[in-house]
Amino acid sequence: MPANVQPARRNSTEAYRAAAAAYPFKCCVVCGLQIAAALDVAHLDHDPANNNPDNLAYLCRTHHWMVDAGLYPTEAIVILREHWQKNRDTPNHKARMKDAGPKAALTRKRKEAARKAVATRRSKAGSEPT
Ligand SMILES: [Zn+2]
Repeated sequence: MPANVQPARRNSTEAYRAAAAAYPFKCCVVCGLQIAAALDVAHLDHDPANNNPDNLAYLCRTHHWMVDAGLYPTEAIVILREHWQKNRDTPNHKARMKDAGPKAALTRKRKEAARKAVATRRSKAGSEPT
């Protein structure tokens, strides 16, 4: 770096303030961790002086490291950041529950058949001569 160029100044307080104002739901945008003390505000362009909210995302320490190491594309972090702000921590079980009613009905039917078979076996065993 040339001597006359100053390195970008980091202002963590400003980064946290800007992130809190722009993203009221605080969680790691990758894993959803919501422990505030464990969350960093990451600079997606790796410029610590750029505290534009578009450049910031909450990440846990592990995912912050992984993002800084280039293991997640920035575009994915931006999509996940918007997703968490919109959906918060409300899970959508629709895909997993789509067949729950018919599966439960089949289980009840099989259980009743098994109970009936046991009762039949017991009644036959009781009627046999000893
Ligand atoms: Zn995480």
